[in-house]
Amino acid sequence: MSKVLDYHEKHKNDWRWQEGDVTATRTTMWTGPGCHNGCGIVYYTKDNKVVGIEGDVNNPVNQGRLCMRCINYLESTNHPDRLKWPLKRVGERGENKWERISWDEAYDIIVKNVRDIQKNYGPESIVAMEGTGRNIVWQVNYLCYSAFQSPNFTLGFLSGDSCYMPRAAVEGVTNGDFFLVDCSQQFEDRYENPEWRAPEYIMIWGSNPLAANADGFFGHWITDLMQRGSKLIVTDPKLTWLATKADYWLRIRPGSDAALAMAFLNIVISEDLYDHDFVEKWTNGFNEVAERVKEWTPERAAAVCWVDKDALVAAARAFAKAECAAIHWGVAVDMAVTGVSTAQSLNSLVAITGNMDVPGGNILVQYAYGQGLAYNYGFENVPQDVAPKRLGNEYPLRQMGFGANAHEDAVLEAMESGKPYPIKMLWLQTTNPIANMAGEAPRVYAAMKKVDFCVVVDLYMTPSAVAFADIVLPAAMSSERWGNRNWYTPLRTITKVAEYYEAKSDEDIILELGKRLQPEFFPWKDNKDWYDWIMLNEATESGMTFDELQEKVYSFPKFEYRKYEKGLLRPDGDPGFNTVTGKLELKIELYEMWGLDPLPWYEEPRESPYSTPELFEEYPFVMTTGNRSYEFFHSEHRQLKLNREFHPDPIMDINADSAAKLGIKEGDWVWIENRKGRFKQRARLDQFMDPRVIRAEHGWWFPEKEAAEPSLFGVFDSNCNNLTSMCDNGPTGYGAPYKNQIAKVYKCTEENSEIMPSTQVTRLGGFPYVKK
Ligand code: SF4
Repeated sequence: MSKVLDYHEKHKNDWRWQEGDVTATRTTMWTGPGCHNGCGIVYYTKDNKVVGIEGDVNNPVNQGRLCMRCINYLESTNHPDRLKWPLKRVGERGENKWERISWDEAYDIIVKNVRDIQKNYGPESIVAMEGTGRNIVWQVNYLCYSAFQSPNFTLGFLSGDSCYMPRAAVEGVTNGDFFLVDCSQQFEDRYENPEWRAPEYIMIWGSNPLAANADGFFGHWITDLMQRGSKLIVTDPKLTWLATKADYWLRIRPGSDAALAMAFLNIVISEDLYDHDFVEKWTNGFNEVAERVKEWTPERAAAVCWVDKDALVAAARAFAKAECAAIHWGVAVDMAVTGVSTAQSLNSLVAITGNMDVPGGNILVQYAYGQGLAYNYGFENVPQDVAPKRLGNEYPLRQMGFGANAHEDAVLEAMESGKPYPIKMLWLQTTNPIANMAGEAPRVYAAMKKVDFCVVVDLYMTPSAVAFADIVLPAAMSSERWGNRNWYTPLRTITKVAEYYEAKSDEDIILELGKRLQPEFFPWKDNKDWYDWIMLNEATESGMTFDELQEKVYSFPKFEYRKYEKGLLRPDGDPGFNTVTGKLELKIELYEMWGLDPLPWYEEPRESPYSTPELFEEYPFVMTTGNRSYEFFHSEHRQLKLNREFHPDPIMDINADSAAKLGIKEGDWVWIENRKGRFKQRARLDQFMDPRVIRAEHGWWFPEKEAAEPSLFGVFDSNCNNLTSMCDNGPTGYGAPYKNQIAKVYKCTEENSEIMPSTQVTRLGGFPYVKK
């Protein structure tokens, strides 16, 4: 055994120990900055500062491995650009002129503005937003509902809730839970567990888990499984590293996922490769689905989705014939108007092939000890006459009460039109909309500029803070806060080991402000006290205090396979799924009741080679966006020297032959343009991409550039969301075309680069060819 492993073996039962004057603490990393995973780490601290970090070999989640975002945590946590104390704007918005103020002064200004707006316009005129950054998926909404008394909590301009929500909107009504690939993550003894087995096939659909580590799924579990014999099917426009290792790579046209997923179902059903026993006992609507997907023959799907027909048929057969198989899916499913339909078909594929909640299939993993508080937490504290005013209630699924937050697109429309009421205040906590998730970023910029009062809580000064904020509050990083990580299992503590100037944890900011506004809803002493309450609360009972969990570092609840057979999914304790019929709903009965199509369907992207062929002649590429990188998490990490050394510039991928025809060479800066705007990135030539597809990065801004407008950290210069759209959602209200816009590409030259997009947007009113 190596010295390193000896060292960790010695400390496997300790959560904290001394190394001379340095304290070691085993705990969990959850952003920010970082990602959504929650890896086990050991912090080494001295004088309230982190001086070292390493992966916790004794934590079953990541077994000692870390990716570069956490390995380089020292640079981010001690970075001189971090926000150190509260700031008040003293110049005009966009001038980047600030004055240091105390926390009390900041809270007083915020309280005064909230009270004035509540009195003059109603609490619904306040919108609170969060992004996908820090672990506050239930705290910002709690602040919005309980302190601001507004129903308008939302996700920082993520059009159509296009991250996980389309999948959740399906899973909630078809199987009543969430599924994940069975990587043994639910067992403390992991791959040694006698009940567990490796999936024979894993189909990776629209995700690059090695870089993304999305939503509590550590990407390297996939490589662990490959070492244990799992084979891959990869559906992705790009030949990713995992795709090079796959038995089948389906090079899909971005935006056609729903058609391809239906073709999978058709092949499995028409070739009688489905699990008759499971289908008969546990599902409904099989015959109707079979009839619906018939039209998606392999030939038609191959033509529409630009995939190889033989590879499609072979992949479907391999998946269905495997002893056990599972799907790992990503946001490519969500980021299309057909997102809900794609999710429905993939969910059905897992079900009819007998892979739901079985060893080596897709497990229904559930939140550890029921700790999964979500976006509606605290909604009961909104006054009864205000709650129905939540923006977006007219969107179909929300009319039926299926919506966890205000609809981002409806919020934008209200900001633009003042209807049904004006938006007077924005609270942005862990979101940097114009750099990251706002579709149609220039439009969002113009709308946000009009809002009277804006508070930003973040780690660094961001383009959104410079452009809109009146008050900027410094948030603590992961090592400076108490918290728990419950998404999905095991339950883990996030332990505070350090402090940074006057930065406060997101929870403490919310508690302190909440106590000033509506003290009756904020009885907790501090951040840790709140977690204690949640862990021991009747509804989410874990049986542990926060301190007890902290000493255990993590805790695995009992896990069982085939919960539907054992009455473990339904509140009434009967066998079956937690759905209205008790069956796994291949046909969604509630959707039919609500006037929505209950079966999978396909719609061409609204601008595409087939729906707008004339336009495609002018814009002859289908552009996908949003691929993850190892160096960055969305718009984070751009100020880190090490990460930028690995990844200095934004990169777009283009087929090498297509590039040659356009006179574009490796590394050239190119403009990507459509009818909404343009942006520039560096070309990376790819031998394997479809010649009609390009792939651009998101989240780019340049902390090294001038902060003040017109530069605004160059936030619009390389911003792929200059080309995407808002208010263009699927029929359920979920899903938006982030990943399937059409565009043209041309080389940047001095002549065509005179006016940069940031100037165009901040000084010249936007791109001239965009219809207003
Ligand atoms: S996946 Fe990477 S960034 Fe995320 S918590 Fe683990 S090491 Fe950190």
